[in-house]
Amino acid sequence: MTKERILIVEDEIKLARFIELELQHEGYDVASAFDGREGLRMALQPDIALVILDIMLPVLNGMEVCRRIRQASDIPIIMLTARDEIMDKVMGLDRGADDYITKPFNIEELLARIRSILKRRGSRPADRRHLIAGDLAIDLERYQVFYRQEPVELTKREFDLLKYLVENQNIVLTRDILLREVWGYDYIGDTNVVDVYIRYLRSKIDQRFDINIIRTVRGVGYILENG
Ligand code: CA
Repeated sequence: MTKERILIVEDEIKLARFIELELQHEGYDVASAFDGREGLRMALQPDIALVILDIMLPVLNGMEVCRRIRQASDIPIIMLTARDEIMDKVMGLDRGADDYITKPFNIEELLARIRSILKRRGSRPADRRHLIAGDLAIDLERYQVFYRQEPVELTKREFDLLKYLVENQNIVLTRDILLREVWGYDYIGDTNVVDVYIRYLRSKIDQRFDINIIRTVRGVGYILENG
């Protein structure tokens, strides 16, 4: 069985290191982030099974990180709150945290909460409802696309095209393949429609966020490059 990977988002280095060692001792794989923005980025990686999220964090606070994670993922989140911050607990749960634990905490208590949440979740190592390519996340159940947590509005066809590009990221796809896989075998028309929809996607993603992830491979087709 592969080890479950837990992300710790905590700016107190000593505490983060302590939790990390305890988790490793319990047989988990551990990743650490020391500010909210980095924590958010890492929480959306497909190999993370659970997030331990502190509230008081530099750059982006834990509440905001929690809210943004929930826009794109249903990964379990345990929030760390300071003693007696009842409002924080309420707000954390309100923003979609699965559980919270009050500092200072007994490490056994935290480990028990983690075991219980992962067991409840069927211990799946990754959130399979999402496709990720760099900073781009596709929520397959809700038909939503996010770039760095910013929602991107797409039509059904644009969504299907982007989904296929992301599923086959870093592979050059010809117009014929895209037409067949996205529009279907019985589509009557020429491959120009692929170019038209690639242009739509570029205006909504590449141009809007000033990036270049959908590249033209001259004379062949297109490739979506991951970061
Ligand atoms: Ca903190």
